[in-house]
Amino acid sequence: MSQGKLIVISAPSGSGKSTIINTILDAGTFDLQFSVSATNRNPRPGEVNGVHYHFMQTEDFREAVENGEFIEWEEVYPGRYYGTLRSEVDRQLEEGKDVILDIDVKGALNVKQMYGDKACTIFIEPPSIDELRRRLEGRGTDDAERINVRVGRAEYELSLAPQFDVRIVNDDLDKAVGMTSDAIAAFINA
Ligand code: ADP
Ligand code: 5GP
Repeated sequence: MSQGKLIVISAPSGSGKSTIINTILDAGTFDLQFSVSATNRNPRPGEVNGVHYHFMQTEDFREAVENGEFIEWEEVYPGRYYGTLRSEVDRQLEEGKDVILDIDVKGALNVKQMYGDKACTIFIEPPSIDELRRRLEGRGTDDAERINVRVGRAEYELSLAPQFDVRIVNDDLDKAVGMTSDAIAAFINA
């Protein structure tokens, strides 16, 4: 059986990346396994341990780093760690399954370096920084300070967009979902 492929989706926080991924997974057009990352941040209302993230105490996260359990990990925001678990990715690929990852820009570029042509990196862009802020405020999951941290990181993240295989602007959601699905189909069927 041939090995599966990796679809790696990144975006500044609030661009609509999770909304796009969930819409595509719910549509069931593709047989994709979602790689559940580990993080030491607190769950948001509605987030389920083991489904959206493996929520960990900082100490346990550090121990997992030391045990080599992560393919990659990043301190995406000060004191906030996120990592892709080897156990979520490599076994699925070996079984010929395609895996979708929702990770930050640095993590995405690291995964691309490791997996090369087996990975397709997709960057979801907001129409503007002002709209990004509006979406984060509208989502209502972060306080003003955390929104500032997320918006503050967006310019750095946008500067790395040219290094991605595919770039999609999420202005009209339906169109962005369509373009992302097309990019996934083209990569999987290549
Ligand atoms: P991310 O996963 O990139 O942090 P989310 O998927 O949580 O972003 O989206 C952030 C907010 O923006 C959510 O409230 C979502 O409903 C909204 N959103 C997503 N896409 C659009 C869009 N095209 N137009 C307007 N609002 C959107
Ligand atoms: P959030 O707190 O909004 O769920 O995620 C914040 C950021 O962390 C997003 O850019 C998200 O893609 C990223 N992220 C989630 N999981 C991982 C991971 O395993 N590795 C890396 N590098 N980033 C991740």
